[in-house]
Amino acid sequence: MKILIVEDERKVGRFIEQAFTEQAHAVRLVSSCAAARDALAESPYNAVVLDLGLPDGDGLELLREWRAAGFNEPVLILSARDAVEDRIRGLNLGADDYLPKPFSIDELLARMRSLLRRQSSGPRVTVLEHRAVRLDLLARTAWCAGQPVELTSREFALLELFLQNPRRVLTRTLIAERIWEASYDLETNLIEVYVRRLRQKFAAVGDEPIIKTVRGTGYQLA
Ligand code: CA
Repeated sequence: MKILIVEDERKVGRFIEQAFTEQAHAVRLVSSCAAARDALAESPYNAVVLDLGLPDGDGLELLREWRAAGFNEPVLILSARDAVEDRIRGLNLGADDYLPKPFSIDELLARMRSLLRRQSSGPRVTVLEHRAVRLDLLARTAWCAGQPVELTSREFALLELFLQNPRRVLTRTLIAERIWEASYDLETNLIEVYVRRLRQKFAAVGDEPIIKTVRGTGYQLA
């Protein structure tokens, strides 16, 4: 599993990194909100360990952004703020677990194991298929006509949204809310750019593009 650790205390970060690496996880350690944003935009992760007090911002803000953008892998908050309100706020924002500092590394590993297990054994559908497209939600891999397709996490989330709603016309507003933040500027053509990219990347499905434009309304899986 790929795990992103967001922690600015160098010693603590290294310690967690080593522990997860020993459990055969692939780990990336970052120490700021900016680096965490970049990491998650660059490549998919199966879980995140998130510190709240970061030099350039608040981890809760990151969490809010990620959940609004459709990132739904487990997030475990690790923080010295152990006030009940902080815990509740974190869980309300979509954290899956909360461990106050100081913590025992064994407890952290045990909780992460349980989060990853819960995620991989849940009843939810983990592979979506449509025409020649195959999307593995756990492995975060995409395939078209048997060939692997490289997707950014946002492209992946967008395609997942279409595959989860195969018969529905998705309006630009709905797409913006789910994949981008609510503050997404509808005047920009960002959605169009992403849809075009997905059409290109999945051109091998056949003559009809994988996503069709519904004039004046939005887009629909084709
Ligand atoms: Ca900190």
